[in-house]
Amino acid sequence: MFNALVIEKDEQGYRSGVQSVDESRLPEGDVTVNVLYSTLNYKDALAVTGSGPVVRSFPMVPGIDTVGIVESSDSDRFKPGDTVLLNGWGVGETHWGGLAQKARFSSKWLISLPAGITPLQSMAIGTAGYTAMLCVMALQKHGVTPDHGEILVTGAAGGVGSVAIGILAKLGYTVVGSTGRPEQADYLKQLGCTDVIDRNTLSEPGRALAKERWAGAVDTVGSHTLANVCAATKYRGVVTACGLAQGMDFPATVAPFILRGVTLVGIDSVQCPVADRLVAWERLANDFDLSKLDQISTDVIGLEEAIQKSQDLLSGKVRGRVVVDVNR
Ligand code: NDP
Repeated sequence: MFNALVIEKDEQGYRSGVQSVDESRLPEGDVTVNVLYSTLNYKDALAVTGSGPVVRSFPMVPGIDTVGIVESSDSDRFKPGDTVLLNGWGVGETHWGGLAQKARFSSKWLISLPAGITPLQSMAIGTAGYTAMLCVMALQKHGVTPDHGEILVTGAAGGVGSVAIGILAKLGYTVVGSTGRPEQADYLKQLGCTDVIDRNTLSEPGRALAKERWAGAVDTVGSHTLANVCAATKYRGVVTACGLAQGMDFPATVAPFILRGVTLVGIDSVQCPVADRLVAWERLANDFDLSKLDQISTDVIGLEEAIQKSQDLLSGKVRGRVVVDVNR
């Protein structure tokens, strides 16, 4: 038996709770993992609270991120005792995830924990931080260099935003954070922002084109914010879109794209090919000041606390990242 956060949906409604689960109920997979830590991402919070259609089959163990030790393996790639890492692949949505003491996965979804990163640090980074790195890699791939000018990060005090700021600042970019929490300005500056703006300046319907300011952007918010960010992006600037904290809509015009040659790059972490993941994690170990995680991730909680914390996260009360110690 092992403890797991289980989401059920039936005639009694949608509910999440910690249960003792028999190992025979573990899903298909060639690698069984004793989980050390998982995390709470925005998507996990939607799943746990039932606020968004994340979970595709019930009962479901949420948790899109896992780090743990291989207990048994039918794969040549992993052996008992290896420390493995998993982000995405529909885990926590269609396949039981990491918010449990034990998990079983396909070896195709697992990578080895990168050298230089501890299991706890890997979850303080989590999908949010790995997605932040995918955004930075896309900016660089499209030629945005520090001398081009300011990079805007929206949802700055959230998980993706916090890590993105840390990475960009370490790489020498001038970073501006957009936040709805002015009281977090000092935190954002410690992470590496040179300037912090009020997210309300971006959240309402705006003009098709605005004064050119951003050389690049990491947008975690979507909706009018993303439209306004594109409208104020400089000639040939690059906007990476990874999130929908304001909304899934994109009420924009094509003006920034056809008149200023702006590039909008979509970022997906879930089905991202393994080769790109390996690069992203390698770069997180090298191009990111891991000591910044002490500021970004101050919360290590147990499985029981994950339910209330999910509500807090969706209410915008959580700063940075939350790690879940599943054995606590
Ligand atoms: P967090 O909840 O940690 O951060 C989201 C931040 O967005 C909040 O902290 C807040 O920042 C800001 N925000 C919240 N509500 C609003 C709003 N109504 N209007 C404007 N800003 C708002 O989430 P994550 O950082 O983990 O994820 C951010 C987004 O990225 C989510 O939408 C998530 O689903 C998405 N995501 C996508 C991935 C992909 O593969 N494409 C992978 C990972 C995440 P502040 O308080 O500073 O204003």
